[in-house]
Amino acid sequence: MYSFEAFQELCNELTLCEDLDLITEPRELERFSKDFYDYSPILKDLLKDCSPELVVRPKSQEAIELVASACWKRDVPLTLRGSGTGNYGQCVPLRGGVLMLMGAMTKIKNFDPKTGVITVEPGCLLRDLQSYLAAYGRQLRLVPSTWRSASIGGFVAGGSGGIGSVRWGFLRDPGHLMGLEIITVEESPQRLRLDALEAEALNHAYGTNGIISTLSLSTAPTIPWEEVCIDCEDWEKAVALLHACAHAAIDLNLASLLEKNIVKHLPALSRLSCNKHRLLFLVAPDGITTIQRLADSMGGEFHCLGLEREQSRTAFRELTWNHTTLHMRAVNSQWTYLQMLLPQPEFVFMDTIKQRWGEDLLWHLEVVRQQGAQRLAALPLVKWNNEDRLYELIAHCKDLGAVLFNPHVITVEDGGLGLVDVNQVEAKKNYDPNGLLNPGKLKGWLDV
Ligand SMILES: Cc1cc2nc3c(=O)[nH]c(=O)nc-3n(C[C@H](O)[C@H](O)[C@H](O)COP(=O)(O)OP(=O)(O)OC[C@H]3O[C@@H](n4cnc5c(N)ncnc54)[C@H](O)[C@@H]3O)c2cc1C
Repeated sequence: MYSFEAFQELCNELTLCEDLDLITEPRELERFSKDFYDYSPILKDLLKDCSPELVVRPKSQEAIELVASACWKRDVPLTLRGSGTGNYGQCVPLRGGVLMLMGAMTKIKNFDPKTGVITVEPGCLLRDLQSYLAAYGRQLRLVPSTWRSASIGGFVAGGSGGIGSVRWGFLRDPGHLMGLEIITVEESPQRLRLDALEAEALNHAYGTNGIISTLSLSTAPTIPWEEVCIDCEDWEKAVALLHACAHAAIDLNLASLLEKNIVKHLPALSRLSCNKHRLLFLVAPDGITTIQRLADSMGGEFHCLGLEREQSRTAFRELTWNHTTLHMRAVNSQWTYLQMLLPQPEFVFMDTIKQRWGEDLLWHLEVVRQQGAQRLAALPLVKWNNEDRLYELIAHCKDLGAVLFNPHVITVEDGGLGLVDVNQVEAKKNYDPNGLLNPGKLKGWLDV
């Protein structure tokens, strides 16, 4: 633990840097000590007293290096923050120290029209990146439902997938992240260029094993997505229809299914309200009639809402993924959630869970590509009761074959498959040898 004098010394050194804002106002420290971890009552309790002692906002690579070196010299923890929209307290400093805001590092450094690869600084908002790419007829392959406020660095270091996962799988699949530039945390920080293979260890590592200063990502040709929804009386039929549409020879960017007790609480889709289960699609224009035909043949009520209005609060991309949870919590903050990959046959699994847990669990499904195969992921809404009951539900889902990604834990590994990734730990040894970056979040490092 660093001393008061050491911390004062660090502040004095950093004050001299013109490219660095220093923030010490208690209300600001409080603001930057939170992300959206309050979706989990467990994390809300666990993280409530965590706070940085100093917040800094660098405006150049040199300023980042200065911060890294100053922290290294005094053994002060350093945690990075993009836009702070993460859900597991990913950017909440567990051991105080310095919190570094990456939001001023927003340069788009290169776009290669031949490959579509974009190279950008980490603080750039996904929204701004999308606008930039649109001029070249390209779009990001994957965005979270928080795409209007989240940063690209935060998405790669903390996110996993979202809108686009039905076509493109998840961020950690090879082919999305094409390379990184990073800054190490040492007395004399180095700037290193990592190729796609080397970069894998920093993808979804919560900023525990290197400061990402530039990212290169692949993109996709723009498709003018149309919003289409289908309402279904019967849940089993709705699941079958979701499968049928996802298996059809059409381009989809989103395929979600919400139980009717969720649908009625979402911000009303203009012109449409219903008391049925609802399937939501973003589909290429040439796929609309196919979805309509499948809906007609299976007794679903088809609606085409036209071209996606990306910026609207009721755009499908802001009613799905974890935005469904956000809207439900706005109605009743007792709702929390889980994340899982469903075992097959999915309907049987969901029915068994529903029989035991009743209306304490509402199904929300997303079609995803998981290791090349189409699967159903779920982000069910769960009525909070207490920790024991939540873990009873998790155990029940696991016993029946679901793969859980627990959103009520703070480490990289516990929120994933529970396994230590030796490459992530190795990268930490190389790029953060004193273990100062976001301490407490990489279990493999704690166990060394
Ligand atoms: C309503 C809601 C909906 C969401 N939907 C989705 C979704 O669809 N898909 C999804 O994947 N996530 C989703 N999320 C989680 C989150 O919004 C995304 O992962 C988002 O991309 C995080 O970006 P951020 O800029 O806010 O990152 P932050 O929350 O600021 O940071 C995330 C992690 O990245 C690290 N980090 C930030 N910058 C750097 C850097 N330069 N170098 C190294 N590490 C860094 C931080 O330390 C932290 O560990 C959702 C969250 C909410 C609240």
